[in-house]
Amino acid sequence: METIERIRLFLIESPIKMARLQGVGNVKGTVKRVILEMTSSSGIIGWGEAAPWEVFTGTPEGAFSALETYIRPHLIGRPVHRIRELMLHLDRMLVGHGEAKVAVEMAMFDIVGKLSGLSLADLLGGRVRDHIPLSFSIADPDFNADLERMHQMVPNGNTIYKVKTGVKSHREDLTHLEAIRKNFGHSVDLRVDYNQALKPFGAIKILRDVEAFEPTFIEQPVPRDCLTAMASFTAALDTPILADESCFNPRDLLELIQLGAADAISVKLMKSGGILKAQNLMAIADSVNIPGYGGTLWEGGIALAAATQFISATPGISLGCEFYMPHHVLTEDILEERVAHEAGNVVVPNGAGLGISVTETSIRENAKIITQA
Ligand SMILES: [Mg+2]
Repeated sequence: METIERIRLFLIESPIKMARLQGVGNVKGTVKRVILEMTSSSGIIGWGEAAPWEVFTGTPEGAFSALETYIRPHLIGRPVHRIRELMLHLDRMLVGHGEAKVAVEMAMFDIVGKLSGLSLADLLGGRVRDHIPLSFSIADPDFNADLERMHQMVPNGNTIYKVKTGVKSHREDLTHLEAIRKNFGHSVDLRVDYNQALKPFGAIKILRDVEAFEPTFIEQPVPRDCLTAMASFTAALDTPILADESCFNPRDLLELIQLGAADAISVKLMKSGGILKAQNLMAIADSVNIPGYGGTLWEGGIALAAATQFISATPGISLGCEFYMPHHVLTEDILEERVAHEAGNVVVPNGAGLGISVTETSIRENAKIITQA
């Protein structure tokens, strides 16, 4: 029986090319995350990644400590194929820390995939798509730099853009949306994300102004618990409302459905705390025809490869993904070869497990290791 023999953990820091202005949790200079290397009894290596964001799910240091102190003792000697059982066990042994748990799950799937010659997507039921439309976020403090980027990217087939609104003034947001429509017309699929920035009081007027630019959806206009306000926007506006911070787990989603508070949801492995859990969430969404969108925090190539495999096997996630970090924001990624982007799509990688190749050398050469255990 193949078992988990060894776990190594790396808390890493990677430089990023551009500042990201989000309202809260602004990012500049570097991002931190945890890389997990799992070795099985026959020497197969699987990789996982925990990429929390402190304003959203937790901290990289917290994930590192959860993995090192509380999770690792429960992994060694466990059968590597019994993924669901181990994830249930971890939920009983440690509350929260979904990012740390999903890192373990990714590495187990990576090993089981390599042992069987199947990809993670195959293990999840097989692909329903080979490409995922890629959305790039307009969040540079310098909007003109983003506009310049769009002029480079649109001709290459990158046509989906999500503008981070509610950080600057409403007037500025409208000016930016207007500039995008003026420059690119309806050749671009425009989305808007408030990251919870608006207060329910007066928000509808702001959203109606934004609606005039015909975005595909408006993401999380108000704080996560303001579900009545979310329901009122969903009822009042023609533009679909997408829940991100309001939707972590099935209980959140059931409440959103009951209240009619979302037309779509953002699914993130770091929020759901599991690949199987994310599929469960989408099963509920599918049953009421709520589409999903592949969101991110600050993941690098390992977690995004897992999410790419997951979306390729999850039909309901039909609104694309925002997996642009490794190509557009990280100056380096720790994979030996990045997951390909082609004509505005993320290409689902071939190969067993996550379909990527990582080594200790590729980590050391491309990131700063802050702590190792
Ligand atoms: Mg969001």
